[in-house]
Amino acid sequence: MKPLVISISGGSGVGKTTMAKVFARILGEDKCLVVSGDDLHKYERRDSIWNELTHLDVSANNLDLGDYYLKWLCSNQMIYRSVYNHTYGTFDPPKLTEPKPFIINEGLHALYSDDSRQLSDIKIYVDVEYDLMTHWKLIRDRKERGYTKSEVMSTIEKRKSDFEKYIEPQKDHADVVVTFSLNSPIKEIGNSEEDIDLQISHSTNRDIKHRTIFENMFRGLEEYTSKLNEFVRCCKEIGKSVEFVQGKGGNISSKFEDSTMIIKASGSLLKEVYHSNGFAMIDYEIISNRYALSEKMTEAEMCELIDESTYTGYKNPSMETAFHAILDGDVIHTHPLYLMVILCSKECENLLGHLMLGELLDGVFIDYYTPGNELAEEIINKKNDHAQVYFLKNHGLIVCNTDLEKGLMITERLNNKAKELLHLPDYEEKTRFEDFKSYLFPDDVLFSKTSNGFDIEMANTHNYIIEGMKQNELTPDFLTEEQCQSIRDSILEKKRISK
Ligand SMILES: [Zn+2]
Repeated sequence: MKPLVISISGGSGVGKTTMAKVFARILGEDKCLVVSGDDLHKYERRDSIWNELTHLDVSANNLDLGDYYLKWLCSNQMIYRSVYNHTYGTFDPPKLTEPKPFIINEGLHALYSDDSRQLSDIKIYVDVEYDLMTHWKLIRDRKERGYTKSEVMSTIEKRKSDFEKYIEPQKDHADVVVTFSLNSPIKEIGNSEEDIDLQISHSTNRDIKHRTIFENMFRGLEEYTSKLNEFVRCCKEIGKSVEFVQGKGGNISSKFEDSTMIIKASGSLLKEVYHSNGFAMIDYEIISNRYALSEKMTEAEMCELIDESTYTGYKNPSMETAFHAILDGDVIHTHPLYLMVILCSKECENLLGHLMLGELLDGVFIDYYTPGNELAEEIINKKNDHAQVYFLKNHGLIVCNTDLEKGLMITERLNNKAKELLHLPDYEEKTRFEDFKSYLFPDDVLFSKTSNGFDIEMANTHNYIIEGMKQNELTPDFLTEEQCQSIRDSILEKKRISK
């Protein structure tokens, strides 16, 4: 049987790749082959020809070759297909590609040629409001490709006529046009910290041959969009305040109706997560099922498991993914500054008793364990179905709830209660402070000291916690040298594995 081909075309940076990934998830990752039109570029990024041509120009792309690949795949033949590497802007060696029941063919010119249109069973064109397209492109090209704002703007300008000439006409050939729009204007275009709400809609040009499949995929896209809006909003809300997270710390995850979970990518800042980047999508059941076996795992095995659960095309999810996968509902993990004064003290459990007075929440206390597999195993041991709050000794807080909005309110409330309970002052960034030799929490061990001095935010956090304890005559419960070493070791281990 000929594979069912879903072609997605549209301008650059409009979310075609994301859409392809969402469709693959809905149709079943193992049944889908996603092919990208970017693999058909004729020239590498550094080629001087790009001073004259844009990627939108058909003459810059091997469209015939793309049609040829598609034909072979549609007749169920394996092919060696060219691969464009986005990180380096160069070509990787051709890759043996096996046809699957569904082929998702996304690219600037996915509906350009007669051949590609004839082979496509569902033809989709993605339309995006001009401001939104500029916004995404500015963020992506500046952050990932190191371009300046004016460079990006001039490419957009330069591309306009090619867009009108080569891309837009494909809209008429599509069965359906999917549109991303905004419900209110963007205040500062290109600012990744901007809070935006994405809307999605579709209009049909003509009868869609496989309507049920399309409607199913579109529902997935709607669910994805609304989850993503909530997720991005929450990441920014938490990420912009040092009272909740410092440096690259903290993480947020949200679960879909199937076994999919969205989670911040490793090495991303929460405040910089936006609708088209900074997060990973994973199959959380792969992780939770494995932990349910309660067989001991090594750190390396856990990393492999996380790797295996990550959907293709996404960055590595955070190293704290395991407990997000195990816990029910949406999960907010923070390192709340005021609460940390309590959590890093020897009087911790007693103070938490005071903090939770009058709370209707069920809270669980988790002793200190090295982040990663050890901590995840302990959380599984102590997990109870009613608990919404987990206090992590010398580490931070986990709040799980049915939705992120409520989780955010709980996080905020508990942190503020800690501030009131201990009469703590507001956080104030200092530039001079005394050196210290003992550490209080994992990020303190890893990031407070840099090769040329201190990480200001992290060292301030350390000192704030120490000061807060002094004021309240609490005793700092420093991590032991052995605990510090195992944090450093596990990071090295993860780096080694991720290579
Ligand atoms: Zn943490």
